[in-house]
Amino acid sequence: MELSREAIVEGLREILGPEQVVTDERVLAQRSIDNFRKLENIFGVYTLPPPAAVACVRNTEQAAAVLAFADRHGVNVVPRTGGTATEGGLETVIPDSIVLDGSEMNEILSIDAYNMQATCQCGVPLQVLEDRAREQGLTTGHSPQSKPVAHLGGLVATRSIGQFSTLYGGIEEMVVGLEAVFPGGLVTRIKNVPRRAAGPDIRHVVIGSEGALCFITEVTVKLFPYLPENNAFLGWRLASMQTGFEILREVMVSGYRPSVARLYDPGDAALHFSHFAAADECVLLFMAEGAARIAQATAAGIDEIVARHPECRKVDSGLIETWFRDLVWDAGKITAEDERIRRTRNVNRTTEISADWSSVNEIYESALKRILAEIPDLTMAGGHSSHSYINGTNMYFNYFYDLVDCGPEEEVTRYYLPIISIICEETLRCGGSIVHHHGIGKARAPWARDEYGSSYWMLEALKGAFDPAGIMNRGTIIPT
Ligand SMILES: Cc1cc2nc3c(=O)[nH]c(=O)nc-3n(C[C@H](O)[C@H](O)[C@H](O)COP(=O)(O)OP(=O)(O)OC[C@H]3O[C@@H](n4cnc5c(N)ncnc54)[C@H](O)[C@@H]3O)c2cc1C
Repeated sequence: MELSREAIVEGLREILGPEQVVTDERVLAQRSIDNFRKLENIFGVYTLPPPAAVACVRNTEQAAAVLAFADRHGVNVVPRTGGTATEGGLETVIPDSIVLDGSEMNEILSIDAYNMQATCQCGVPLQVLEDRAREQGLTTGHSPQSKPVAHLGGLVATRSIGQFSTLYGGIEEMVVGLEAVFPGGLVTRIKNVPRRAAGPDIRHVVIGSEGALCFITEVTVKLFPYLPENNAFLGWRLASMQTGFEILREVMVSGYRPSVARLYDPGDAALHFSHFAAADECVLLFMAEGAARIAQATAAGIDEIVARHPECRKVDSGLIETWFRDLVWDAGKITAEDERIRRTRNVNRTTEISADWSSVNEIYESALKRILAEIPDLTMAGGHSSHSYINGTNMYFNYFYDLVDCGPEEEVTRYYLPIISIICEETLRCGGSIVHHHGIGKARAPWARDEYGSSYWMLEALKGAFDPAGIMNRGTIIPT
């Protein structure tokens, strides 16, 4: 029999004690969404069912007890840590869900400088771990723009990626082992070893599972030497994205591993680099880091490759270095941006995809052309590539629009989803992936079948095997 809202709250209070079960209506409304519907928070108009309660767990046993309770009674659970999700992964679309909040599990359990790995509870903000690692001359190498506010559990659950990914990789290359709790309360540890070939890599059942299979309680990530004194910054202005993609490709296939490799189109460059780039110019920039000889050789190699394209004009490296310092988003910057939206009703959104070198420029051009032709009230549309691989790169579309004759609660259907549809359609048409790093959430789940094609059944099989009662974050990854 289905439990009433009151019975769910009562059950949680019995497990956790009343002080760890939040039922304040304002908090519940805020916890019904994430940044996908951020205008609802900014303007205080909420459209989704509020959760029954936020269950703030402080250890693995409590998380297991909540999941056992939820599984027993068929209550939907939405895991949460930093709350910076952008794709609706935190939305409580099922009435009377439990938000399982791990942000109080915020202890760094070890920084092992000999084996170069750190172990944290799921609610440790990445910035806190990074600061502690740097005290010992180490770095996680992970630097998403949400580093100050995102937590380790969410970062693993969304398969996140940082600015230095071209050298260090995405989080999937950093996670050594972890602990997670599965529905029913089954505590599961995947041990920390450098590599093993004892069957499939089961870490990947958890990494990127977006709260739809399990609750991550603990994570162990790799550490690297932190040598900022060797950083080399390089930048160029150029006329075309096609040339920029070609240079990125040449750098990657030549075997260089800059930590940063970015290409901005004129629209996006105007937002960041108008102090040195003309309105119609693209900007290409790199950062090389690591041991001094590696950083120098990487910078010299990139210089040599770009020199083969005389249309590229070099930018003073100090300008690129200064720009990097302001790249992450802390709570203050996020609040200021929310305030700007409230004041101007001008909204900034982003959508990221990936593709091989042969198709990325076509996706960029065709999606942008359609967005400009089909979407009203745009004030800017452009994008950049910020994560490259030997076989391709990502494209991060960045766009602004004014809300015209439209309430804030209509923004998603009037503007945001139509743009996402165009980007997904063009990406799928050219064989790319509709999600590079923000997770598929609930926002892009309607395209999951097309994204996966004939391997979609494997996704459904995972869900059926690990969450047979379907209580974990319903509607995320797999559409309801
Ligand atoms: C300003 C800004 C900049 C950003 N920059 C980047 C970037 O550079 N790179 C990038 O990859 N992303 C970026 N993001 C997206 C976001 O920060 C990442 O997706 C991040 O990984 C989410 O971590 P979180 O702790 O905030 O997770 P949450 O927002 O709390 O949750 C995210 C998802 O993970 C699930 N989840 C959370 N905790 C757990 C857990 N313990 N166990 C199981 N599932 C869980 C949730 O159910 C949800 O589906 C950015 C977002 C913002 C707002």
